[in-house]
Amino acid sequence: MTMVLRARRLLTPLQAIDDATLVIEGGRIVAVGRRDEVAAPAGAHQEDFGDAVLTPGYVDVHVHGGGGFDLMRGDAEAIAGTARHLAQHGVTSYLATTVTAPWERTLEAVGRLVRAGEGIHLEGPFLSPKRRGVHPEAELLLPTPERLDALWERGQERIRMITLAPELKGAAEFIAAASARGICVSMGHSDATLAEARAGMAAGARHVTHTFNAMRPLHQREPGLLGLALSDPALSAEIIADGIHVAPELTGMFLRMKAPGRAVLVSDGISASGCGDGEFTLGAIKVEVARGCCRHEGVLAGSVLTLDQAVRHAMKFGGLELAAAVRMATLNPAALVGLERKGRLEAEMDADVLVLSATGEVKAVFQGGQRLVGGR
Ligand SMILES: [Zn+2]
Repeated sequence: MTMVLRARRLLTPLQAIDDATLVIEGGRIVAVGRRDEVAAPAGAHQEDFGDAVLTPGYVDVHVHGGGGFDLMRGDAEAIAGTARHLAQHGVTSYLATTVTAPWERTLEAVGRLVRAGEGIHLEGPFLSPKRRGVHPEAELLLPTPERLDALWERGQERIRMITLAPELKGAAEFIAAASARGICVSMGHSDATLAEARAGMAAGARHVTHTFNAMRPLHQREPGLLGLALSDPALSAEIIADGIHVAPELTGMFLRMKAPGRAVLVSDGISASGCGDGEFTLGAIKVEVARGCCRHEGVLAGSVLTLDQAVRHAMKFGGLELAAAVRMATLNPAALVGLERKGRLEAEMDADVLVLSATGEVKAVFQGGQRLVGGR
């Protein structure tokens, strides 16, 4: 079926098109432009969203579950339930993110998650014991070539991102080998000094996991990984913009520093997301949620942030325009992990389209040209 969507504005997101028309055929975008430039094919189903804004679907590269479902379960119900929850918040692509677990359990989860989203993000077990957050210390491991091979094989080449502490023994070789396979290596859960973080980057690391959280704090003479994340324009970096993990003032500063192309909004959402307060799990870790704050024995354990909320927070905390905030949840993450048909509203891209209000409320969601959210 051919479908034509119209709205007052469209964000590609690199370009803003007013009075826009978007044509979808067979799940792909075939044309984007101003109403007077793009003709609607004969017989197409047409829909006008009036004052709304069309944007690409959001891409969350760091999410552990949602809607009561924990992705570490890895079964079809957990995958479908998480996807349903994410779609409600405009996320049409995501990387299923693991937490540190016993090695055999990690391999098993990776094997099951090959069917989830757009791939897998491995958070742990190659993390610093000093900056492990809630990741169980007893299960942390050193990165070795054999372990990378085992993960790669079990994950059927679906592993797109690995978070690791670059100061660990063997990290440089691991980073180089993972990068050679096209995996985006992200530095995080790390006590790295500036020199150690630079060495990680020299070996191929390109990204930083939840900046500010689970890393050595900034010191004026030893800025560490955090200092590198803030100062190196080549390094991409993610942030949990819930106003809890990082103060709104610092979140805003970070977003302005890393704008336009190197900031990535992530949810770090866990099963509890969308479920209110109560007791939930993150892998084998018990998490208590109270007033939107997820803790395990007093330590922050993921979030219940949703990516549509993160976009609105980015506007509020960072003083960003909608287009700039949307870019941090679409093009930036998609480009980072090599999702070539995602994150942009252009011809040839997958027809993952959001209909937003001017303030970033999700009105409708299309994935591959199919409407997932929003009535007619
Ligand atoms: Zn996480």
